[in-house]
Amino acid sequence: MYDIGFLNGDIYVEGHFFRRNIYISADKIALITEAIETAAEVIDCSGLKIMPGFIDPHVHMALNVGEFTSADDFESGTCAAAFGGVTTILDFLDPIQTLSEFQTVMERRLKEAEGACLDYSFHLTLGNFKALNEIPELLSKAYNRGINSVKVFTTYSDSDRKCSDEIIAAILGTDMLLMAHSENDELVNTAHEEVASFEEARPVLAEMSAVAKLAEIAAYEKGCLYIVHTSAGSTVEMMAKRYSDLLGKRIFLESCPQYFYLTNQSFKGRDGRKFLLAPPLRSEEEQYKLRKQLHRLSTIGTDHCPFMAAEKLQYEGAGKVPKGIGGIEYSFLLMHTLYGDEVIDHFTCRPAKIFGLQEKGCLDIGMDADLVLFDPKGTTVVDSGHSSCDYSPYEGLVLQGKIKSTVSRGNFVVKDGVFLGGKGRYIRRRYCESDHQCYNL
Ligand SMILES: [Zn+2]
Repeated sequence: MYDIGFLNGDIYVEGHFFRRNIYISADKIALITEAIETAAEVIDCSGLKIMPGFIDPHVHMALNVGEFTSADDFESGTCAAAFGGVTTILDFLDPIQTLSEFQTVMERRLKEAEGACLDYSFHLTLGNFKALNEIPELLSKAYNRGINSVKVFTTYSDSDRKCSDEIIAAILGTDMLLMAHSENDELVNTAHEEVASFEEARPVLAEMSAVAKLAEIAAYEKGCLYIVHTSAGSTVEMMAKRYSDLLGKRIFLESCPQYFYLTNQSFKGRDGRKFLLAPPLRSEEEQYKLRKQLHRLSTIGTDHCPFMAAEKLQYEGAGKVPKGIGGIEYSFLLMHTLYGDEVIDHFTCRPAKIFGLQEKGCLDIGMDADLVLFDPKGTTVVDSGHSSCDYSPYEGLVLQGKIKSTVSRGNFVVKDGVFLGGKGRYIRRRYCESDHQCYNL
């Protein structure tokens, strides 16, 4: 006898939907069948699509940025995420500059994440890390704690977070996945204060030139590179032209819903400051170009990092406004409204493979029972949602479809639109089993 059966849903398997029943034992998928079996509880899923729980590979819960801390902690952020069908989040450790800091940031973040109702894991983050000789030990320590990805910044020298090319090349020479916030520091104007023209302070060329340099180092070192929050269509176009052999195999581009939905026109309005983030929202031309290239992107993350409206509006000049916006609750619906089922892999199997989430990202026997029950005929109107933040940059948009329920390891976290809560677990991640070439996304 199984614990739960989800009956008559359309199940997403390898790019297609099939009418099947899914049976769960404890926290795993035990059976996918056309037959009816006995289960302690059965859920009728007629008319619903059932997908693997979504993975958001890029979030910042309780991120301290000096004077401000992002509005969602792990508890409220994962609650909002669950309403969006997300079942796993990948957050970040605080940036470190020496090996000796690793233990502290790891324990601190584990503590902070205890309230999460969904599963979570962390990326290691380097600031201006100076000791090249400490890198091998650092990476092996991190890997022993289940971390297969290291984030660096190519900008933010003003806050001592810019990572040297020497360190970047060293990491790309290993099996670790290098994640990069890619903006050419010398083309970023941190003194720029006018909000309306904020995009000019961090131009498209800053992103393109930083990404091109990283890609060249990755190609030379035969490393694995993941570009976070790719903002400009021109960057994707350039990568497709120059690195088509590596794109989706060893170089991965992530973008975020904000770059598909919002443009730098938002900075010009009365509430322009509420939209400030880095890299900035781009022109309509860049957005148009980006929208044509979903197939060249490996994943969609949110860079979920909202601040309260009053915090965003506290200072007049762009410099002191905390950068970041929210979006985890509506990420899938935003992208699905634009592209339909073509986006499902960007939220499921691809982030699972890239980030070594071996028991997540697909509906198969033995995998974690992380499910999204999706009503394709429903509609969703965006409001501030279940985040602690008091506004959404997408407020008022009408999106196709409705997330009805979210199941994390066999337990309903959201059921028919009601939050039931849950207990998230820290997920240890692994390198890809054979070699990098097995990524073929
Ligand atoms: Zn980020």
